[in-house]
Amino acid sequence: MGLVIYCKGAFVSEQEAKVSIFDHGFLYGDGIFEGIRAYHGRVFKLDEHLKRLYESAKSIHLSIGIAKDEMQEIVLETLRRNGLRDAYIRLVVSRGKGDLGLDPNNCSQASIFCIADQIKIFEPIKYERGLEVKTAATRRNNPDSLNPRIKSLNYLNNILAKIEANQAGVVEAIMLTQDGYVAEGTSDNIFIVRNGVLMTPPLSAGVLEGITRNSVLELARELGIRTAEELFTRHDLYTASECFLTGTAAELIPVVNVDGRDIDNGVPGEVFKKLLAAFRALTLVNGPEIYKAQSATAR
Ligand code: PMP
Repeated sequence: MGLVIYCKGAFVSEQEAKVSIFDHGFLYGDGIFEGIRAYHGRVFKLDEHLKRLYESAKSIHLSIGIAKDEMQEIVLETLRRNGLRDAYIRLVVSRGKGDLGLDPNNCSQASIFCIADQIKIFEPIKYERGLEVKTAATRRNNPDSLNPRIKSLNYLNNILAKIEANQAGVVEAIMLTQDGYVAEGTSDNIFIVRNGVLMTPPLSAGVLEGITRNSVLELARELGIRTAEELFTRHDLYTASECFLTGTAAELIPVVNVDGRDIDNGVPGEVFKKLLAAFRALTLVNGPEIYKAQSATAR
């Protein structure tokens, strides 16, 4: 049995979910998206994801055409129609159908899609033992060109870095800013621990404001771990006592080797383990329920 997809106003089968060849999302990468997760019957940080989606839309002059609460219902209903409690959700809003020209004025209505499925980007064993990664020659987009805070459909920059990682025999790349500071992974934010301080690059460096990143920063503060959103170099990364990546698809995953250098003694660290436990606990209680308990009268 295939999936039920929300596709431009209707719930249809996977086979019926079609995009026009003239959709500017397809022709030009002109659109935005969100990757969201449901855990234990709740959609984790859904408000935060919708806020980011609408902010991305505003930044690229895209009128989504429906309100946030309607979008929330699309996400919840997609999960219900697929009978899912734990899932990866992809919400896509493209500029819509236009013509072969670039002008977005020729796209009269945004196209909205919602897919709920499973995703596995790293092998389960890597979550226990940690990842080997490589810094990529391909730099993260300059924020003056296409700001990485916009979660746009144009991921070619990240895909080129991913290809570099694949060719080097590792599964993830770390991208640097135009100035050579550490920015982020191809679909995840990066954290290091140095001198007992949990550090991640600031948003001004040109990184996505990851929902998982924000959750980890918040949990760290609650746990009394010192945090800093500060630029750091490859040298800081190589000599860190811990390193890990965060993302909705990646979740929290330790990094144990960067460019052939072991991070500390090459095993996942204690700060990481504490934060992972706190994150797991948060996924049990955060976000709207997909299947609200029926009231006594309805039963
Ligand atoms: N950076 C990039 C480039 C990403 O694509 C993602 C995945 N959305 C992230 C970071 C992590 O963000 P989040 O925690 O919101 O999934």
